[in-house]
Amino acid sequence: MTVEHPEVPLLAAGSAQPPTAVHDVALLDLDGVVYVGPDAVPGAAEALRAARDTGMRLGFVTNNAARTPEEVARHLTELDVPAEAADVITSSQAGATVVAERFGDGAVVLAVGGPGVAAALRAAGLQVVDSAEDGPVAVLQGYGRDVGWVQLSEAVVAVRGGAVHVATNTDATIPSPRGVLPGNGALVGVVSAVTGQRPVVTGKPDPAMHAECVRRTGARTPLVVGDRLDTDVEGAQRAGAPSLLVFSGVTTPDVLLAAGPEHRPDLIADDVAGLTRSHPEVVREGADWVCGGWRATSDGEGGLLLAGPDGGAAGTDDGLDGLRALCVAHWADHRADAAPARVSAADGSGDEAAAALRRWQLTEG
Ligand SMILES: [Mg+2]
Repeated sequence: MTVEHPEVPLLAAGSAQPPTAVHDVALLDLDGVVYVGPDAVPGAAEALRAARDTGMRLGFVTNNAARTPEEVARHLTELDVPAEAADVITSSQAGATVVAERFGDGAVVLAVGGPGVAAALRAAGLQVVDSAEDGPVAVLQGYGRDVGWVQLSEAVVAVRGGAVHVATNTDATIPSPRGVLPGNGALVGVVSAVTGQRPVVTGKPDPAMHAECVRRTGARTPLVVGDRLDTDVEGAQRAGAPSLLVFSGVTTPDVLLAAGPEHRPDLIADDVAGLTRSHPEVVREGADWVCGGWRATSDGEGGLLLAGPDGGAAGTDDGLDGLRALCVAHWADHRADAAPARVSAADGSGDEAAAALRRWQLTEG
């Protein structure tokens, strides 16, 4: 299947029209984008309603394989983001598609993980078993709170017997109020440590996940929306799709600034309201990179200077134009990941640049 890409450029070129006018489908990561744990991101429901009102369709995409699409859709609907199971794409479904394509209809597969894993396998026309003695040709392993020694041992025996080990994702950790806890990657690591075999991985950032999203939504010009650089943004890049990074989840401006090329998004916004806003371009003026009246430049010693905003310059009202200028100024000089030595307000630039840098936590003090 081919995906057509619109003329959406790197961050430098922005998007003169709001993404809703350019893309037919937004492929939304969930945790850190639509909700954080059980609660909605403030304003997300209203912003997504506004996006839908323009005719944009929404796909809800999660690496979390434990819940079924029905459960995810119910959670979203409770948060005032109406969703049906068909709108939800999970890494279990991507894994099941990969297994079905490889082994065909009715193939016998050992499911390891929460209910979402077995449900996705059945929906893909596969036969689900829970014992290695049933002769599975593959093991699909996804996150599940109840996964323990018994299931892991079945997976080990099956893989040693020749079954292909497929992991829905390899995130080593999951966030919790008590700090990070073991994620699917940690439990997949238990199986591969015993078998000595590396699993096939199908969740973000693997292109299999994006292919599943496109297959399920029929998107022609999708925009990937996410809060993580190493799953959402990298997954979009590997699939050749543009991405919008939102700051409502785990990524902070300093991490974005230091990102390598594979982790640099096309657009940035505080939250999903960025779908309905235009994103100004960042243009070069002499040694400066300029965006919406903000001006960023290298200090010649590995650091960055920010000045602005110029009175009267047209920019966005989201307060991120200075950060856009800083990112492009830094990335233009760095082909690999690298944090700037320092980021400071330019001499004589007034209070606003210093205040913006403090807001983004790019300066000390
Ligand atoms: Mg996320």
